[in-house]
Amino acid sequence: MSAVRSSDARRAAAAVLDPELRVLTIDDLGVLRDVTEDPATGRVTVTITPTYTGCPAMDVIRADIRAALTAAGHADAEVVTVYAPAWSTDWISEAGRAKLAAAGIAPPGPAGPAAGRPVPLTLTVRCPHCGAADTEQVSRFGSTACKSLWRCRACREPFDHLRAF
Ligand SMILES: [Zn+2]
Repeated sequence: MSAVRSSDARRAAAAVLDPELRVLTIDDLGVLRDVTEDPATGRVTVTITPTYTGCPAMDVIRADIRAALTAAGHADAEVVTVYAPAWSTDWISEAGRAKLAAAGIAPPGPAGPAAGRPVPLTLTVRCPHCGAADTEQVSRFGSTACKSLWRCRACREPFDHLRAF
């Protein structure tokens, strides 16, 4: 018997917040790939794809998913990590991009053909405060390894930019 989609388990898993970007759920990020339930055993399998291998947050995400599913009545849930196809910032939902902008984090542009590799630093990053394109990268690493620190030359406000992969 093949596994079926489980909507209550999916709701529970989809509400788990990304530990690095507290404003986004793993569903917003596109990290949550699939949630299935074995109709015979009722066992739930959650499939996730890590944002990138350098993010130590994935262990936290796995633990948070198990806790959320236990609370939803699926204590024996299994979390499976799938690396292919590789996650890219293109997987961030429109709602996720809006939440990033509202939190003052510049949403990443499309990763395009370079998906899976760091985007060149010549990339123009718009200031999430005033929208100006006249910005400069201050540091390759922002408040976490997944973000870089930028500053706007127009309004002089610093902001985090989620690095595109
Ligand atoms: Zn600005």
